[in-house]
Amino acid sequence: MGNLGFWTLAQNEPDWVALVEADGKEHRAGELRAAADRLVHGLRARGLVPGDVIATVLPNGRAWVEVFLAVSQAGWYLTPINAHLAAPEIAHIVRDCEARAFVVHARHRGSVMGAAADIPVPEQMRFAVGGGIPGFRPYAELGEGQPDSQPRDRRSGTTMHYTSGTTGRPKGVRRQLPAYDPDTYGELQTMLLNGLFGIPPREGNVHLVAAPLNHTAVAQFGGAALHSGHTLVLMDAWDPEEALGKIERYRCTYTHMVPTMFRRLLGLPEDVRKAHDISSMRWAIHGAAPCPTDVKQAMLDWWGPVVYEYYGSTEGGGAVATPEDWLARPGTVGKPWPVTELRILDDAGEQVPTGAPGTVYMRMATADFDFEYKDDAEKTRAGRRDGFFTVGDIGYLDADGYLYLCDRKADVIISGGVNIYPAEIESEILRHPGVSDVAVFGVPDDDWGEQIKAVVEPVPGAEAGEELAEGILASLDGRLAKLKWPKAIDFIDVIPRDPYGKLIKRELRDRYWAGRD
Ligand code: ATP
Repeated sequence: MGNLGFWTLAQNEPDWVALVEADGKEHRAGELRAAADRLVHGLRARGLVPGDVIATVLPNGRAWVEVFLAVSQAGWYLTPINAHLAAPEIAHIVRDCEARAFVVHARHRGSVMGAAADIPVPEQMRFAVGGGIPGFRPYAELGEGQPDSQPRDRRSGTTMHYTSGTTGRPKGVRRQLPAYDPDTYGELQTMLLNGLFGIPPREGNVHLVAAPLNHTAVAQFGGAALHSGHTLVLMDAWDPEEALGKIERYRCTYTHMVPTMFRRLLGLPEDVRKAHDISSMRWAIHGAAPCPTDVKQAMLDWWGPVVYEYYGSTEGGGAVATPEDWLARPGTVGKPWPVTELRILDDAGEQVPTGAPGTVYMRMATADFDFEYKDDAEKTRAGRRDGFFTVGDIGYLDADGYLYLCDRKADVIISGGVNIYPAEIESEILRHPGVSDVAVFGVPDDDWGEQIKAVVEPVPGAEAGEELAEGILASLDGRLAKLKWPKAIDFIDVIPRDPYGKLIKRELRDRYWAGRD
C-alpha cells in the first residue's frame, strides 16, 4: 500500500498523461490534481461541507474529471445527470438530490435552461463550462485565485447516482461516505479492476471511455482507472468507426461498452473493420443490458477471447463472466463478485432449486456498499429480505453456481398464468436479418390477461409490413415454443434506447396500456 491511488501517483509522476479528451487534448495528472484542489478550495469557500451534493450535466471531458476528483477528496457526493434527459427530469433529479452546487456544460444549454426555473440552487452556485448560459456563472470562476495546495481535512467522497429509470422514475442510490481517507480509498479502487477482471495497475494500460461517464458503471470504471494510474481516452459521443480509430491510435487496452455498441461495431462494413488494428485490446467489458448470444459470439470471433461481461446495477453487487466462462456456458453472466453473495428466491422468500428461475437477491460482504433509496425508506425496505437486496431481476443458477438472467421482474409478461420473459424472445427476433432492433412486452388481453407484442425496427432497406412480420414468425419455428411467439408485430422507425443502450420499454408499452392500469 502507499504507491497507488490518483493523488499519490499524481504527486510522484505529475507528467503521466491521465486524460485524453475526445478532441485529442492531453492532460497530465499534475494539472488535474491542481485543478481539483483549487475546486475544493473554491467550493469550500462558498460554504460546501462534507455530505453536500454537487449535481452536474456535463459531457465526457476534463470538467467531469475535475469535479469527480474534487468530490473524491472533500467528502461530497457527485450526482452526474444524463444530459439526454428531458428538462423536467433533470430538474427532478437536481431537486431530489438537494444539490448545493450545479455544474453544467454550455453544450447542454437547451435542456439546462428548460430545467433552470424549477431548480432551487441559487444563481451564485450555478456554473457553466464552455460558454455563457444566462443565470450561470463561468465555471473558471470557481477555482480562480484559489491555491493549488492539497486541501486540509481531506475525506473521501463518492457518487450518488440515480438509476437509469428504465422501469420508472430514476431513484437516487445513496451510500455512506467511504470510511477511508482519500489516498487509501483511491488505492482500494485499483482492486476493482484488478480483482474483477485482472486489469493490473499502471503497466501502460489505456482505458477507452466509450459511454457517458454519467452512468454508474462508466464512472466506476473511469474512477478506478485514474486511481490505477491508467490513461483515460474519452469519446464524447458514440461512433463505432471513431471507437476503432481511437483503439488503434492510443493502443487502448480495455474498454467498457454496452451491447448496442457491439452491434454498431459489427454493423460496420467489413473493409472498415479490417482497416483498424485492435490487437492492443485485452479486456472488452460489457454489461448494463442483455447481450444477444450471436452478438457476443461475433465479437469474440473478431476481437478474440477478450470479451468480459459483468452484471450489476446502480445499487451495487453483481457477477462477472470471463470469455472462457461464457464460451463454456453461452448466455451466463458469470459467477458472483468476490464480495457478493447471491441467492435466488421465490415470492415466498424460499430458495428455489438449481436451474429454476426466481428473483435474484444479493448481499455484499462489506458495509461500504450499503445503500438506501434517497428519501424512500419504504422502497428501500421493500427490496430487502434477511440482509439481502434485490433490484428486481429474475434469473437462475446452474449446478456450478453460474448465473443466468431471464429478465427484469417489471418486464415479465404473464399470459394465461404463464410467466414469459421478453428478453429471450427479443434475442431470437434479433437474429432475423431484416430486424435492426426490437422490443417485446405485454399488452392487455381480455382472455389471457396479457398477450405478447413485438415492436420491430427494420434494417434500412427492409420493408415494414405483413411479409416481414410473417418471415420473423417463421424464423422462430423450432427455436422458441409457440406460446412465446408474439401475437402481433408492429413496426417503428427507431426503438427508443437511452445513451447506455437500455431499452426504454415503458415508452412503447404505455401507448398500448393507455386507459388501463
Ligand atoms: P431503474 O431501476 O430506474 O428501472 P435500471 O435498473 O435500468 O433503472 P441501472 O442500475 O443502470 O438502472 O441498471 C441495472 C440493471 O441493468 C440490472 O438490474 C439489470 O436488469 C440490467 N443489467 C445489467 N447488467 C446486465 C447484463 N450483463 N445482462 C443483462 N442485464 C443487465
